[in-house]
Amino acid sequence: MRGMSKQLYITTAIPYANARPHIGHVLVYLLADAWRRHQESLGFTVRFSAGLDEHGTKIENKATAEGTSPQEFVDKLAPEFKQMLEKLNVAPTDYVRTSDAAHVGRVQEIWAKLDAAGLIYKGTYEGWYCAGCESFLTETEAKAVNYECADHKTALEKVAEDNYYLKVSQFSEEIKRFVSQNIVPVWRGKEILEMVKNGAQDVSISRPVEKLQWGIAVPNDPSQVMYVWVDALSNYLTALGYPDAENYTDWWPAQVEVIGKDILRFHAVIWPAILLGLGLELPKKLLVHIFSNKSTITGRNGGVTTTTTTTTTTTGVRSGASRAKISKIWQRPFII
Ligand SMILES: [Zn+2]
Repeated sequence: MRGMSKQLYITTAIPYANARPHIGHVLVYLLADAWRRHQESLGFTVRFSAGLDEHGTKIENKATAEGTSPQEFVDKLAPEFKQMLEKLNVAPTDYVRTSDAAHVGRVQEIWAKLDAAGLIYKGTYEGWYCAGCESFLTETEAKAVNYECADHKTALEKVAEDNYYLKVSQFSEEIKRFVSQNIVPVWRGKEILEMVKNGAQDVSISRPVEKLQWGIAVPNDPSQVMYVWVDALSNYLTALGYPDAENYTDWWPAQVEVIGKDILRFHAVIWPAILLGLGLELPKKLLVHIFSNKSTITGRNGGVTTTTTTTTTTTGVRSGASRAKISKIWQRPFII
């Protein structure tokens, strides 16, 4: 039982399996693993989840281009991601591939619960889309970036289609409280707070099957396929066997969820809405790190020596960083 036993749950963001592992995938594991080792040294039993995000248009397109099926495409890549963890000496207790039948079934149950709670409705989406991010932007958000994706530097695409929506707006106040109290570093939370100050917006959580086949089917509607976020974010719960395994309450809420800055918006706004919709507690901390790709590290405080001692090889990722150096990473990885 929580509170009586010394146990806790740490989650790591799941990389997108559209290409082989690279240096950018490493930092999340080093940070989470350092924290895990620290907690274990204090006598805690730690459950540690990792996984692979395997659905979506980009994977579907790449598989088609290579003349293979999406499942075969991700099956070929998945061992390389596992090998990367082995090379880093990081051993998750739980590992979710989002194309696993168990994950798929659990996500469909999660969808059904949200639907039964009156939190899902069908609407017509009109707005802007970045295929690279597989992310929709509102008119306001798109205008703010001059209709160009900030990460991909490509023009946003105008789209209009029937989608299911999640009533994120219903949880605006809880989301504001969460981002002001539960995000490390605090200033990243402030950025999100600014974004939701007039209330969080409902988000599209499915796409028409003509636009996306490689994803989890929406229960009771063959015309729609779940869009990445409900599928991918739910991995932190399905890793624990939620909703079927009764002992998930021994581990949830996560003590810390380690993510990169690029996916903060989804973890700070959509994820809390899903959890609140399910009647679950929110993670105690969202730990947000910078990109570990050297080319993207430009310090406004003179830079931080994060993973420059870690190198990629053609066979995977090789960590040259000693554990001592990793603990240094742990001290100040969130400055830039
Ligand atoms: Zn993009």
